[in-house]
Amino acid sequence: MIIRNVRILGGEPVDIRIADGAIAEIRPGLEGPEAVDGAGAIALPGLVDLHTHLREPGREDAETVQTGTQSAARGGYTAVHAMANTSPVADTAGVVEQVWRLGHEFGHCDVHPVGAVTVGLEGRQLAELGAMADSAARVRVFSDDGKCVDDAVLMRRALEYVKAFDGVVAQHAQEPRLTGGAQMNEGVVSGRLGLTGWPAVAEEAIIARDCLLAAHVGSRLHVCHVSTAGSVEIIRWAKSKGWNVTAEVTPHHLLLTDDLVEESPVGAYNPIYKVNPPLRTRADVEALRAALADGTIDVVATDHAPHPVEDKETEWSAAAMGMIGLETALSVVQEAMVETGLLDWAGVAQRMSVVPARIGRLSGQGQPLEVGAPANITLYDPSVRTEVDSSAYASKSRNTPYEGMTLPGRVVSTFLRGRPTVLEGKLV
Ligand SMILES: [Zn+2]
Repeated sequence: MIIRNVRILGGEPVDIRIADGAIAEIRPGLEGPEAVDGAGAIALPGLVDLHTHLREPGREDAETVQTGTQSAARGGYTAVHAMANTSPVADTAGVVEQVWRLGHEFGHCDVHPVGAVTVGLEGRQLAELGAMADSAARVRVFSDDGKCVDDAVLMRRALEYVKAFDGVVAQHAQEPRLTGGAQMNEGVVSGRLGLTGWPAVAEEAIIARDCLLAAHVGSRLHVCHVSTAGSVEIIRWAKSKGWNVTAEVTPHHLLLTDDLVEESPVGAYNPIYKVNPPLRTRADVEALRAALADGTIDVVATDHAPHPVEDKETEWSAAAMGMIGLETALSVVQEAMVETGLLDWAGVAQRMSVVPARIGRLSGQGQPLEVGAPANITLYDPSVRTEVDSSAYASKSRNTPYEGMTLPGRVVSTFLRGRPTVLEGKLV
C-alpha cells in the first residue's frame, strides 16, 4: 500500500510505501496499485496514550475495550495504556491478561494493561506486581489511579519492587486528608461558589515526597495528570537533580480553567467540568503549557474517563469526576500548544507518541517514521476548524467538556502496523 502526499512532521510532501506492516520506502513519486491520498496531511507516528480508562471489565455501560479503542483510533492513537481501576481491579496476572486478551480480540489499537499497585486499590497491601510483569500482558506501568498511594512505606516498596523488571509507578498525586469532600480547585471561585476546595498543596506534597522516595531507592516515578504551577516547580527541581522522574499533563488542563464552574456556555455548576484533579487557574494553565514546551512535563496523556449520562447529568456534588478525551486530544493540543507557537509538530510527536511509548517500555510503538519502522501512522489535517459534536464519537460516553466549542484540526486516518483503523475520519 502507498500513502501519497503526506508531510512527515509537517515537512515536504512525500509518499510512504508500506509492506508487511512496516514502512518500506519514503520518497516523492511512488507508484503502485493500492494508494491512499493523504492530501497534504501531516503524518505523525501513531499516538500512544499512557492514561486511558477503558472501563472493561465492570462498567461496560460507560465504555468497553472495543468502543474505547475505536475512540482511540479516531483520535489518532495506535496504543493505549488501560488503567487498573476496573471491576474487578486489575491487580492480578489473571485480570491484566483478561484485558490484554480483550485488546487482542476487539482492539482497534494496542492495549497495554496498567497493573494496580495495591490489592483492590485499597492502599493496604502491595498487589502481585511481579506476576503481572511476568504475565502475557508484560505490565510495566503500575498505578492505583483514581486513588493515591498515600502510604509512604507502600509507595517506597512499590518503587523498589518495580526496579526488578524496569517498571514504573504512575502516581495519582492527591493527599486524601487534604481533599476530604473536595469539589473543585481551592481558590477565589470555590470561595464564591461555596464549594469545598481542593488545594494545590494536596497534589504538590505527594509529588515532592514521591520524587524524594524515587531518588532514595533509585527507581522510576511517573506523575499522572500534573495540574498546578507548584507541581511543575517540584518536577523541574527533581529533574535538575538527575532523578528518574517523568510527568504527564492532560489536554483539558492545558486549555480549561476553574472559572468554567461559575460561568460557561452550559451554565454554572455544570458537572461536565468536574474532574480529578480539578481544573485550575489561568496561571496554572500557563505554567503547564510552558512546562510541556520546555520538557519539564514529558508527555500529554488523555485521562479519558468515560461516564454514563446518569453519573454526570446530576447535581454537582453527586456527579462523577472525569471527562472523555481521546477523540479531541490532538485538536486541543494544537489549540493550546501549536497555535500558540509553543510546539511544532515534531514536538507534538515526541510528547504524544515517542516519549509515552518509551515511558511504557513499548517496543514497536512511538518510533520515528523512517524506513524499517512499524507503520503506525496518524494522518492529521490541521487546517480545518470544526464545532465539536460528540454524537459522532465512537466512545460509549458523551462527557466531553468541548461540546459546541470550535477546535482546530481533524484526524484523517490512522494506520496500525500498516492496516488502516480509520480512513477519512471513519472507522474501518
Ligand atoms: Zn488520576
